[in-house]
Amino acid sequence: MSVIMSKSKDRYGYVSEVFFSIQGEGPWAGKPQWFIRLAGCKQRCRYCDTPHAQAYTPEKWNFRPRLTGSGRQYNNPVLPAQIIGKILLAADSTRRIPSVAITGGEPLEQPLFVDALITGLRKNINKVEILLETNGLEYNYIVKHQRQINYISVDIKLASVSGLKATMLKHRRFLQKIATPHGCIKIVVGSKTSMTELEKAFILARKIKPDWELVLQPISDKTGPNLLGRNMLAKILDKAVAIHPHVRIIPQLHRCLGVL
Ligand code: SF4
Repeated sequence: MSVIMSKSKDRYGYVSEVFFSIQGEGPWAGKPQWFIRLAGCKQRCRYCDTPHAQAYTPEKWNFRPRLTGSGRQYNNPVLPAQIIGKILLAADSTRRIPSVAITGGEPLEQPLFVDALITGLRKNINKVEILLETNGLEYNYIVKHQRQINYISVDIKLASVSGLKATMLKHRRFLQKIATPHGCIKIVVGSKTSMTELEKAFILARKIKPDWELVLQPISDKTGPNLLGRNMLAKILDKAVAIHPHVRIIPQLHRCLGVL
């Protein structure tokens, strides 16, 4: 299968894995999708569920075209055309699924590669819909083709839950630069969530992206979402609906289903 790519835009990148699964987070939860998980992330969130994708230059990446099975390994670095070719080949022999999530690690730590991926996906997969998931901290690396993304999911990390320090200003700068029309802001909440910090995050979300959905995601462990308890959930919900018009509480669906 030949994949059309403009030579000048071909860029090598480091990928952790490419697989077919069910979107587990945010307003697209439940959608069958291809996931292109880029390698590398400089953050170390306490609740990170993809620590294997934090390393920057893994020797191999894994390709798994079905929900089951362990897949096959290929060498890094890789060109977008090689990934897209494999997705097209697998999609032809199963069913074409024109929905792709670019995720990480943190994809925007490889902005040129993300741009090349978006261009390649648009050129080679008819009516593909593209979701970009980002930690919302890399405000210096906003991708050039961000308007060609159908939907962007941007985190706001709370220090009381993630353990990261001083992220609010970075989130503000990031959100101010994003011109992708449709998206959501995702905040992971847990039993130790600081209500003061949460209030600041809600106000920031409403001020900069008032039309986007605000997704509150209860923290998960390996067995699934950790229920916060009805009291904590009520406290968070009362605060959220008092400030923001588009609140959604969505636990990680893939954890409930037991898939990656
Ligand atoms: S930003 Fe995402 S990938 Fe990076 S450590 Fe945090 S949860 Fe993990």
